[in-house]
Amino acid sequence: MQFIDLNAQYHALKEHIDANIARVLEHGHYIGGEEVKTLSEELARYCGTQYCLTCANGTDALTLALRCLGVGKGDAVFVPTFTFFASAETVALEGAQCIFVDVDERTFNLDAEKLDIAIRRVIEQGKYTPKCIVAVDLFGLPADYPAIRRVADRYGLPIIEDGAQGFGGSIGDKKACSFGDISTTSFFPAKPLGCYGDGGAIFTDRAEYYELMSSLAVHGKGTFKYDNVRIGYNSRLDTLQAAILLPKLDAFRRYELDARNRVAARYTQALQARYTTPLVPEGFGSSWAQYTLILDDTRQREDLQAKLREQGIPTMVYYPTPMHKQTAFGGYDFHTEDLRVAESLCGRVMSIPMHPYLSDEDADRIARALLA
Ligand SMILES: *Cc1c(COP(=O)(O)O)cnc(C)c1O
Repeated sequence: MQFIDLNAQYHALKEHIDANIARVLEHGHYIGGEEVKTLSEELARYCGTQYCLTCANGTDALTLALRCLGVGKGDAVFVPTFTFFASAETVALEGAQCIFVDVDERTFNLDAEKLDIAIRRVIEQGKYTPKCIVAVDLFGLPADYPAIRRVADRYGLPIIEDGAQGFGGSIGDKKACSFGDISTTSFFPAKPLGCYGDGGAIFTDRAEYYELMSSLAVHGKGTFKYDNVRIGYNSRLDTLQAAILLPKLDAFRRYELDARNRVAARYTQALQARYTTPLVPEGFGSSWAQYTLILDDTRQREDLQAKLREQGIPTMVYYPTPMHKQTAFGGYDFHTEDLRVAESLCGRVMSIPMHPYLSDEDADRIARALLA
């Protein structure tokens, strides 16, 4: 049994994916081909934003968003401490100070009240200038954007939505990757919508942001590629990946997102009496990048992981270490007093296999192993 079965998906979509790859090899526009334009338009339509810019990966998408907002030295950027490293790494790379904020213990996402406290503290201390908020849609569930937006507006801060895991999630009738002033996603193969290599995208409603990020992504181009008006990057989604993503987006929209939700509902039904299962608040929808249980302690987690491994069932720990305890952020000595929820979660979370092609039989076998 695989944790995420990409091969099952390939075989379900093989005919379309193979045909699309063959078409790119025939027309030969490997960079910036028609498929890239079509995909960008379809992604913007799906997420409900004015603009979508595809790029090389989800990390670059964050970097381009931060550069677009002018984040740099002396700035404070507020980031949840329970996330994948790239959410914070990109901030540090721009020379800004990460201010790590704790998360809600049931949704795993940024705690808006603690965010407010953290912003106030930074203002009072006067050492850094609050610049923006990075909110992460962890495990496929959108962060609490209504609450985060209220805090952001109180201090006039823009929001970057790190939707690398969130693509397909929703709040009411609005889709993930539309909640930030700039939103980003990743097409890393294991994400809810993945390609066959690296890929990413950026979403916004603002024309000036879109123009600036389009320039930054192509060596700071001005009117054309050999007119360079700023220092930028080389960050593109290549045509082959776009050609692979088109039928995958179609399947995601038609049935994969529903299938993920069916697997999650089946797990929850079987496990909720015994375990703390993931909470999806009223009105929210998850794309289930991960299905993550909260266990009693690390000891129980180790026992369960060993037991499942014996039965050929893979499990993963996302994430064992919060950002403020990462070696790379070793010098971090800034307001760490209240990051207890994230620290506790790191010792207790365990993710179980989740993908749209997981059979009922396998889901039941996994649940039985956890209940035995
Ligand atoms: C995967 C991920 C990223 C980075 O995406 P890449 O495409 O691997 O660069 C950023 N943030 C979060 C939360 C992620 O899960």
